[in-house]
Formats: sequence, structure tokens, C-alpha cells
Amino acid sequence: MTADSSDVLIAELRAGLPDEAVVTDPDRLASYRQDMATFCPAGTPAVGVLARETAHVQHALRVASRLGVPVVPQGGRTGLSGGANAVDGCVVLSLEKMDRIIEIDPANRIAVVEPGVVNAVLSRAVAEVGLFYPPDPSSWEISTIGGNLATNAGGLCCVKYGVTTDFVRGLEVVLADGEVLRTGRRTAKGVAGYDLTRLFVGSEGTLGVITQATLALRPASQEPRTVAALFPTLAAAGDAVARVVASGLVPSLLEFMDQRSLRAANAYRNMGLPEHAAAMLIAQSDAHSDQAGADIAAIAAVFSGAGGFDVVEAENAAEGDLLLAARRDSHFALEALGSRLTDDVCVPLSLLADFVQRVEKVAADVGLTVAVVGHAGDGNLHPNVMFDADDADQVRRAQHAFDEIMRIGLEMGGTVTGEHGVGLLKREWLARELGPVSLRVHHELKRLFDPQGILNPGKVLATEIADAPPRP
Ligand SMILES: Cc1cc2nc3c(=O)[nH]c(=O)nc-3n(C[C@H](O)[C@H](O)[C@H](O)COP(=O)(O)OP(=O)(O)OC[C@H]3O[C@@H](n4cnc5c(N)ncnc54)[C@H](O)[C@@H]3O)c2cc1C
Repeated sequence: MTADSSDVLIAELRAGLPDEAVVTDPDRLASYRQDMATFCPAGTPAVGVLARETAHVQHALRVASRLGVPVVPQGGRTGLSGGANAVDGCVVLSLEKMDRIIEIDPANRIAVVEPGVVNAVLSRAVAEVGLFYPPDPSSWEISTIGGNLATNAGGLCCVKYGVTTDFVRGLEVVLADGEVLRTGRRTAKGVAGYDLTRLFVGSEGTLGVITQATLALRPASQEPRTVAALFPTLAAAGDAVARVVASGLVPSLLEFMDQRSLRAANAYRNMGLPEHAAAMLIAQSDAHSDQAGADIAAIAAVFSGAGGFDVVEAENAAEGDLLLAARRDSHFALEALGSRLTDDVCVPLSLLADFVQRVEKVAADVGLTVAVVGHAGDGNLHPNVMFDADDADQVRRAQHAFDEIMRIGLEMGGTVTGEHGVGLLKREWLARELGPVSLRVHHELKRLFDPQGILNPGKVLATEIADAPPRP
């Protein structure tokens, strides 16, 4: 983009937006360049728009469409796949300031929110009226509902309750040309028309900009009971997870931390976690009345039967919260140890033990440490390949290990991303996972919603609109 065309863009944006909504200061703009992914290039934006209402988003998109300028929607920029990274000369369109909870309707168990509402803020607000919004990514204190919707985020409670898409009734979306599309409904049921709501959920800002969401809520659950157990091998922990699920038990959370991530948690916050086992599993039950105690006892028995030791129930909710804090913090605890590449593979539960063993072998083959944490109850693990970013050979080996882990995941009938999305990081792997027909349909949908290719270009699909394969 030339200086002249950048001036025209900024002038046209200013013509329809309040002064404080347009950011041009290079230092401020720099903070909008990228999300929290590693290994993903980030360009330099021409301008930032901090939208406060839907009309601001419409204006930004109308201008961008007219001038053919790329637009990168952003929420909390906590993404782990480069989906929110700027491209050169783009408008970064931040939805963070659209952070109003418009309505909480207990009678119909729904909430209507703007996209910039932080997940934990919504969760606490609905808890005050005895309701529960289950999707709870570990980043819930820093990520937004808009980002959660756009990535179809998962979380810790998803093993029992499902992921973001299971709690969305309807959306307001601004399309590439600035038109407002309303999808879905407020009612508990409704099958009118194609399910456009789910099409936008997980579309990573490539099909439209979400400006409002109607979310389903549940009655508040009981304060959970927690059990943790140590395992002598990763495979034994993987086997325990498969046994819990196969036994028909329904924990509200079933999380995995390996020895390296336990050590990292201790180094990060002196948590006092045990370090003498290959892995730890943490399970919770939030079932009502005596059922939670019975569930936890049954899960403890399954853990022991699978070779678990030091199987301990948390004495109270605070102790359970502490264990979960260690798990939620693992991203930052591992980051404190150096560079890493985070995989997000989800495999069939019955193959979890095999998967962790194969990850161990990959680590041995490349001679690097791979620290594994994850939402084990969903079969969704995050192997973190640790490396020295200043050592070219280690960087190469880390990239190889990262790719190898995705290859193994696909070979096992899994997916290359259980929750973090494709962004820039996994575009080539998405193409492999989808196959040619599904990939072509993806391109056709992209072309339909974004004919000029201005919405978050280069994300999810590796090929630009103009170069996409035509229909045979
Ligand atoms: C410590 C840590 C823990 C994490 N734990 C989890 C976890 O447990 N589960 C999980 O799923 N993820 C997790 N993540 C990843 C990340 O938090 C999620 O992907 C989250 O949903 C991103 O939300 P965000 O508001 O930060 O969005 P951003 O990172 O800003 O954007 C993410 C994507 O959504 C698009 N987007 C954002 N807002 C909109 C909008 N309004 N309309 C259209 N597109 C939009 C962006 O263009 C981008 O493609 C974690 C990240 C960190 C740093």
C-alpha cells in the first residue's frame, strides 16, 4: 500500500467513525499486529479500527470493500494459530470495545452479548442469576466471546457439555460489503433454513465479522468434586482416560499434565505439584447431590485399576481450584521455559494411549523435549515442542516434530486441530485433512461470502481467492 492510498483509506474511515475509533499511531498499532501463536508471520497494519457498535464495523467493511483493502478481525488476540495476525496494509478491526452484555434472560436461559465480552466476565454474570455458560477455554479470563465463536473454542468443561458451537443460538454478522446478516433464533429449537449460524462459528473471521451473539445457558451446576492421580507412564494415563469414558462415567472435566508440564507449573508458580510421575490426571464431577461423590469414587477406582497411584480427592473446592489453576496456567508456565510450538491434535479416545506413546517417540527421534497437556477426556492433547529459537537446527527439528505429530493424529483418524483453529499455522494440514472435494467446497463458500478476498486473507485457506481451484 502506498502512502497516498493509506491516506485515502484513513480519511475514508475517519469520515464515518469517531476519532477515538481510528488508530494510526505506529506504537499503538504494533500492539495489534499479532496473537499469541509462535512461528506465524505478522504484517504491518495500515490502520486500526476499534469498533464500539455494529455501525462502525459496517462502515469499516464498506470502506475496505470499496478500496479492496484486507480486514483482520480481532478479539483478545489470545489465538494460538496466527488467525488474528495482521497482513501488510490491512485494517485491524478490533471488537474488544464492543463488550456489552445486552441481555441475560433467565426465563429462556439465553444471553445476548457483543463479541468483545470476555468469556469469564459473561460466566460470572450469568452465575449471579443461577445460570452457567459452559465453554471455558483455559484463556477464559483474557479471550472474548467473539474470538471463542470465530475459533469454535473448547475448554475444560467441554468433555461433559460440548464446545462453543453447542451454545450458540444465533448471530449478527457484518458481511464483507457491510450488510448485516442475522442467523439463527432465540428459541430452544428451530430448523428454518440452512444452519448459517454454525457456518460462521469456527470460520476464523474469513466469512464475516460477528457483532452480536445469542447464547444458550444452562442451570448452574453443583460445586464440583475433584480427584487427581499420578501415573507411571503416559500410556497408563491415556489408558485410564479411555477406561473412564468407556465405563459410562461422565466427568465434567478430565485433564492431563505430563511430568514436564508439572515441573514447569512448579517453576512458574511454586505450586508444589508432584514431579515423580510420568503424568497426572485431574477429574471433576459437578453432578447433583450425592452423585458427584459416587462419580469421583468410581473415577478414582478406574484410575487405580489403570495403574494410577497417589489417587487423592481434593479436600475442598479451593484445593480443586488450585489444581485447575496449574493446568490453566500451563501455557504461560511452558512459555517461561523458552520457545515452543503447540500442537492441538484430537484423536479417538480409544487411541489416546497409543497417541501419547507415539508423541514420546517423536520427541526421542528429534532429540527435543515435548511437554504434553490437554483436555484428555475429549482426546484433545497439546504436545508442546520445546526448542531454542536461536538454534537453526533445533528450529528445523521442532518444525519436523510439530508436523509429525499432526501426521500421526490424522493417521489415527483424528484432526489437526481440536480447538485452536487453523489460522496460518495449519493451513497445509487442513488441506490434507479435508481432501480435494471438501477443500473445493470451502473455497466456494469463501468466494460466496467474500468475493474480493478481503476478509482475513491467507487464514484457514492457503490459496487466495483468485488462485483457488475452479469447480470442475
Ligand atoms: C493461555 C491460553 C490458553 C488457551 N486455552 C484454550 C482452550 O482451552 N481452548 C481453546 O479453544 N483455545 C484456547 N486458547 C486459544 C485462544 O484463547 C482461543 O482460540 C480463543 O477463542 C481466541 O479468542 P480471542 O478473543 O483471543 O480471539 P483472537 O485471538 O483475537 O482471534 C481468534 C480468531 O477469531 C477471529 N475473530 C475474533 N473476533 C472475531 C469476530 N468478532 N468476528 C469474526 N472473527 C473474529 C480472528 O480473526 C482470529 O481468526 C488458549 C490461549 C491461551 C493464550
